[in-house]
Amino acid sequence: MPIHFHKHLQKTRFLDPNRNYQDGSQTTEIRVDPLTGRTARILNFPVRVPPKPDLTPLVDASLQMGCPFCPEVVEKSTPKFPPDLVPEGRIKVGEALVFPNMFPYDTFSSVGIFSAQHYVPLLDFDEELLVNGFQACTEFFRQVQSQYAAYGSLNWNYMPQSGGSLVHPHIQVIAGDIPTNYQREALEAGVRYQRENGSIFWADLLRKEQETGERYIGSTGTVHWLASFAPLGFTDLMALFPGRNSLVELTRPELADFARGLRRVFAYFDGKGFWNFNLSVFSGLPGDESFWVHARIVPRFASVPLNTSDMRYAEVLHHETLTTLKPEEVCKELRGMLE
Ligand SMILES: [Zn+2]
Repeated sequence: MPIHFHKHLQKTRFLDPNRNYQDGSQTTEIRVDPLTGRTARILNFPVRVPPKPDLTPLVDASLQMGCPFCPEVVEKSTPKFPPDLVPEGRIKVGEALVFPNMFPYDTFSSVGIFSAQHYVPLLDFDEELLVNGFQACTEFFRQVQSQYAAYGSLNWNYMPQSGGSLVHPHIQVIAGDIPTNYQREALEAGVRYQRENGSIFWADLLRKEQETGERYIGSTGTVHWLASFAPLGFTDLMALFPGRNSLVELTRPELADFARGLRRVFAYFDGKGFWNFNLSVFSGLPGDESFWVHARIVPRFASVPLNTSDMRYAEVLHHETLTTLKPEEVCKELRGMLE
């Protein structure tokens, strides 16, 4: 079946105490992801994102804890790759440095730091800083891929509410022969889609989103930006690398296109009071033509007044996203920022 954006509107009836117990109702929107079939729910629910706090105490505390990535210690505190994998031991691009993760997530697991700077506010990530970090990580993945067929991803938890355990900005590459749940579902669904429709899901998605314009934000060079129809978080921005099947194929100019868009996303997040996010760039195997390399970026937060987590039973136990924000509204707000 070609791409269809299914929405189910579920009406709930109740007697409304705010209207003297007259008939009342609320509508929940259940959206079906056009690739995986997973659902996400858009609710009418008041969520208050608190204004960005003064982060000085947090940054000070993180320095007092000791940071293994700061320049005084990084050479001594971080491991080196075995010479048969990375002969130089670590990978350096500009100030960016990639080394093995001593607490690995998979057969190949690395950490990349962008620079010597311990805390980088969202608005201070310049293009070169980002590109150097991404390039060093893709270079590591290239070394892995030259020897092993591995499913890989480039991942970033920025600041503690995203799950980041260190303030010093760092990204992770994980790779191995077992894809993550998301990768497996997207890879399998992409193959199925191509078999059934004779075309590539990602190319069809891009064309369809460009046609309707409801969630197509724009492009930065070769990279196209969408607000995901069925989000994986409060909002979920997607960057597509057309025709690229594996992270190893990404060139520095393409990473620069990605970084330029990302800087606009960071500005948008900052304006909304978000100062934590998760980002993943997913890779298939080289030659997996039904899969396009793409990134998804989700802001993370705890809402006021009780520091309520944005991960609930729905997300943790049902793998079902709840949000109150329509992707179409996010798209409208962001569209101007990409131009
Ligand atoms: Zn540091």
